[in-house]
Amino acid sequence: MQSWVGQGVDQIDTPALVIDLDAMERNLARMAAFARACQMRLRPHAKTHKSAELALLQMAQGAVGVCVQKIDEALALAQGGVGNIYITNEVIDPVKLARLAKAVHRGGTRFAMAVDNELGIERLLDALTEARATETSAIDVFVEMDIGHGRCGVESPEQALLLAQLIQQKPTLRFAGLQAYHGAAQHLRSTAERDATMANSAARVQATVNTLQGAGVNVPLITGAGTGSFVREAGSGLWGELQAGSYLFMDADYAANESDPDAPPFEHALFVKSQVMSRSNAHAVCDAGHKSHAIDSGLPKVAHPPGLRYANGGDEHGVLHPHEANAPPPPLGSAVWLIPGHCDPTVNLHDAYVGVRGGLFQGRVERIIAIDARGALT
Ligand code: PLP
Ligand code: MN
Repeated sequence: MQSWVGQGVDQIDTPALVIDLDAMERNLARMAAFARACQMRLRPHAKTHKSAELALLQMAQGAVGVCVQKIDEALALAQGGVGNIYITNEVIDPVKLARLAKAVHRGGTRFAMAVDNELGIERLLDALTEARATETSAIDVFVEMDIGHGRCGVESPEQALLLAQLIQQKPTLRFAGLQAYHGAAQHLRSTAERDATMANSAARVQATVNTLQGAGVNVPLITGAGTGSFVREAGSGLWGELQAGSYLFMDADYAANESDPDAPPFEHALFVKSQVMSRSNAHAVCDAGHKSHAIDSGLPKVAHPPGLRYANGGDEHGVLHPHEANAPPPPLGSAVWLIPGHCDPTVNLHDAYVGVRGGLFQGRVERIIAIDARGALT
């Protein structure tokens, strides 16, 4: 990639993953203000951006830390100076846990992890013992509940109680509360469907809290929520921390949701800049295929120029069809700005973001932002 600070947007080499910094900063500030107004902790999910620089920007505006999904994602961000990282996922492999335990022992970053089974707790403990972690370098552990997704998480309040009590018995583990996230609820299109699904999830969380408290186990925090659901967790009186991630960039899949009246108005801030490199009378072909953007949640939308539909042209090509019959396709060499269908896996395809200030048409490259945890899948 040939991009440098000070370059005009028209010169950015393509395909490139571009952040409209003005739009991203508005998204960042709006979510921070929302969380503040609801007196909720904000711990954005960094699986979206995978960047220490962006995590630190979120923390500078009040986020308590960030979430990640994988150990190596956590280690990459810790290396980049992020001081508070929660792995919202189960890890069983001793080899992975040993890497985490070493970092816990080293200090500098406070880590937390989710568990949903006894083996995960035992192995985390073994890894910490092996790394000679002491009580002062203890790790926060959340018990993950399945609140309707049907993915990870314990299924009953009694299982949650059992794990919480097991954690409480271990000196280097701190029972930090419940992980309660419903991924499948995030893209239910209507607000009514998301209301109903999350009301059901809240009832499951409440039942678990009742069981734990009934057994004398205090639940310090309930954490969860994504960009599609967070208004509900914030209004529930149960959750105390929001983990939304995609709000920072807003992809095409999220834009297709009916928007929540109480949610801040998030803008598209992440684009793939491409250019037309072939053309017929009926269509144009751009240089961004699905090696430039993930297509698991649908093909990209064309942000600019208007009036075009993107069709899949393979891994290195996109075919652009004018909406109107007989409309001329864009000229050779012209820029085409795409809004990815799904931001998180799109980011993982690139080494760096090109951060643009002043808009996509007149702006300049202000900085290149490293995607530190690109490919950190283990
Ligand atoms: N929390 C957890 C556990 C997740 O898995 C995710 C995303 O998949 C999120 C939060 C953030 O969701 P989103 O990026 O949709 O806001
Ligand atoms: Mn996602």
